[in-house]
Amino acid sequence: MIPYGKQDISAQDIDAVLQVLQSDFLTQGPQVPAFEKAVTEFTGSKFGCAVNSATSALHIACLALGLKEGDVLWTTPVTFVASSNCGLYCGASIDFVDIDPNTYNLCPDKLEQKLVQAKKVDKLPKVLVAVHLCGQPCDMQKIQLLSKHYGFKVIEDASHAIGGSYQGSKIGSCTYSDITVFSFHPVKIVTTAEGGMAVTNEIGLCEKMNLFRSHGITRDESLMNEGSYGGWYYEQIELGYNYRMTELQAALGVSQMRRLEEFVLARHTLARRYDEKLKDLPITLPFQLENTYSGLHLYVIRLQLELIGKSHRQIFDELREKGIGVNLHYIPVHTQPYYRNMGFDWGDFPEAEKYYREAISIPMFHGMTLEQQDEVVASLKDVLV
Ligand SMILES: *Cc1c(COP(=O)(O)O)cnc(C)c1O
Repeated sequence: MIPYGKQDISAQDIDAVLQVLQSDFLTQGPQVPAFEKAVTEFTGSKFGCAVNSATSALHIACLALGLKEGDVLWTTPVTFVASSNCGLYCGASIDFVDIDPNTYNLCPDKLEQKLVQAKKVDKLPKVLVAVHLCGQPCDMQKIQLLSKHYGFKVIEDASHAIGGSYQGSKIGSCTYSDITVFSFHPVKIVTTAEGGMAVTNEIGLCEKMNLFRSHGITRDESLMNEGSYGGWYYEQIELGYNYRMTELQAALGVSQMRRLEEFVLARHTLARRYDEKLKDLPITLPFQLENTYSGLHLYVIRLQLELIGKSHRQIFDELREKGIGVNLHYIPVHTQPYYRNMGFDWGDFPEAEKYYREAISIPMFHGMTLEQQDEVVASLKDVLV
């Protein structure tokens, strides 16, 4: 099976991890800050907080922004469940903004319309999670304008987008947002096995996230209520978690970051080749906004089902049977049973649901060979025409 995504581990990556295993620190040593520095330097943000997953990063980002019971978080329905679950962890309620049918990201016009309505009934969101689906940046300028006008905070869920840029600024520069979150799960663009990071330009937000990452405990005297009583002394000043990243993960991250640009470039080469080879099939190819560079985590095609004469399911199954590890990103979050129990239902976000009925992610990853790609193309031609 040709997988839809796969990590690429080099001899240098392995060396970096082995060196940590033979060192004094397996956790809370020098590699974690080195990894934070590598990511903030690359993205052009000031502060980074590395954690054990993007899910944790989203959670502590929401906490640092003060999200709590009675507040509302908005995001897109076409995302992984973690983008909205982070709001639930904080006791907030969730709502969604339907997607733009071209970019598949949350639609800025629908966002504006929904904000106008929400203001009338005094239910404005406190936090918006903008997800750069497949690596395609959201319309961050418009989102930032709306956030200033309506007074909400913005988290970019850039789990798909490290290495990309928007209007000349790197994804993760936080030019248009308060906090940006990355995932380093093996299917993502760079990996630490499991891992995530939240980056920001505000030291206060980073200090809060550092606290929430590790039990709400500080050894920094300037943050203490009482001042230090001695070298042993620490204070718990928030209710935090153990979301720490290990040194093994961080060393792998430092090493992987050296190849980030190469990884993204390889994805672009593969994507351009798909664009060319698939252009005559009854499918809609990915669309790219002007003045943006995608991290290209995923290559999603949409089936023009009225031209094909087979069902979405049938096409998906036939591709899998041919050894093509297709996938579907994502089942709209509001249709999950857990969310339907909160009152959401099919029909709530029609563009997201239409996308779901037509989308298929086809294999694309750094180590993919041209032969593998040709096999995917040939299988698609077989199944679709
Ligand atoms: C993968 C992913 C996450 C969660 O990442 P983890 O590191 O696995 O917790 C969150 N949001 C999006 C959009 C993702 O793709």
